[in-house]
Amino acid sequence: MTPAVPAARPGMGAVLDVALGAVAANWKLLSARHPSGPVAGVVKADAYGLGAAAVAPALQAAGCRHFFVAALDEALALRPLLPGAMLAVLGGPLPGTVPEYLAHDLVPVLNAPAEIALWSAAARAAGRRLPAILHVDTGMARLGLEPRAVAALHDDPAALAGLDLRYVMTHLVSAEAAGDPLNEAQARRFAAACAALPPAPRCFANSSGIFLGPAFGSDLARPGAALWGINPTPGRPNPMHPVVRLRARVLAVRDLGPGETVGYNATFAAARPSRIATAAIGYADGWRRAFSNRGAARFDGARVPLVGRVSMDLTTFDVTDHPRVVPGVWLDLIGPGQDVDAAAADAGTIGYEVLTGLASRVQRIHHPA
Ligand SMILES: *Cc1c(COP(=O)(O)O)cnc(C)c1O
Repeated sequence: MTPAVPAARPGMGAVLDVALGAVAANWKLLSARHPSGPVAGVVKADAYGLGAAAVAPALQAAGCRHFFVAALDEALALRPLLPGAMLAVLGGPLPGTVPEYLAHDLVPVLNAPAEIALWSAAARAAGRRLPAILHVDTGMARLGLEPRAVAALHDDPAALAGLDLRYVMTHLVSAEAAGDPLNEAQARRFAAACAALPPAPRCFANSSGIFLGPAFGSDLARPGAALWGINPTPGRPNPMHPVVRLRARVLAVRDLGPGETVGYNATFAAARPSRIATAAIGYADGWRRAFSNRGAARFDGARVPLVGRVSMDLTTFDVTDHPRVVPGVWLDLIGPGQDVDAAAADAGTIGYEVLTGLASRVQRIHHPA
């Protein structure tokens, strides 16, 4: 028996449909593109807004055995849902958190000498080697060991004695810009840092890095965005399967005469007799105010322009040419004809920000297929 697909709750105004089968297919596609080692799932920020509690187990069922989140709380929430999988925290262990890492079998990413010292002390106290991932900075200058800290570890490898080094990792600055010479420079710096450190498996590419070629292959890739269908190769055709559909219900349709205006501050005036649909999504749902008078939705595949200001709970669309748009129908804001990257571009941002910005008020529906 196929599991029933949950429907939108009757009161829901905005819905994010997530195709779990497409997430699994994307993980398999990335795995085929990364023959040097397995592919992890980066499920931070609630799996980029898709709902990590549903998405992470779907990835595990597809074969994924390594997961990354940003913060300890995210790991604690996912730990019971991912039995047996490696679950690593990118943000590094903060003082006072060691007991939770140990109790829940979490792997910290060590980003600084102080974190190495903290984790080594924990290993001494526990009387055993503790798993850890070492992050070296090769150009991002956010987290990760600076070159002089790597040199210091080279001179004093005993500082790592208590650690079971699962991986040495680094993070690419411009992986989505295939021609950027920074990519090769980071690959060289990463190789040099790994040569200076005790031998350990390597963890390198994010989504776009997987598409940069074999020099960016490693023992573990670390993609997030591409799993959710965001194009890892901007400017070129999207190799990923679409995963998300964002839709909003039309609450009202009204007629406007020429010169009549719509919404706060009257930023849109009808140039002709017009029909305006008001949909139940606004910036409090994560449909950003920057979309005001920009972008569009789709109705049955046809483009309906967004007109006027996006307000907190409502957004208005010109449906003059679409008489079948009536109260109760759904408009697609992300979906066929308008993928997440294209929608984001209308607001001057990237798909990552649009997805992670969707509020909890948007109902997530996870479809098995
Ligand atoms: C978010 C993140 C990733 C995943 O990046 P994508 O571009 O979404 O594939 C990988 N590594 C680190 C350190 C990250 O912060």
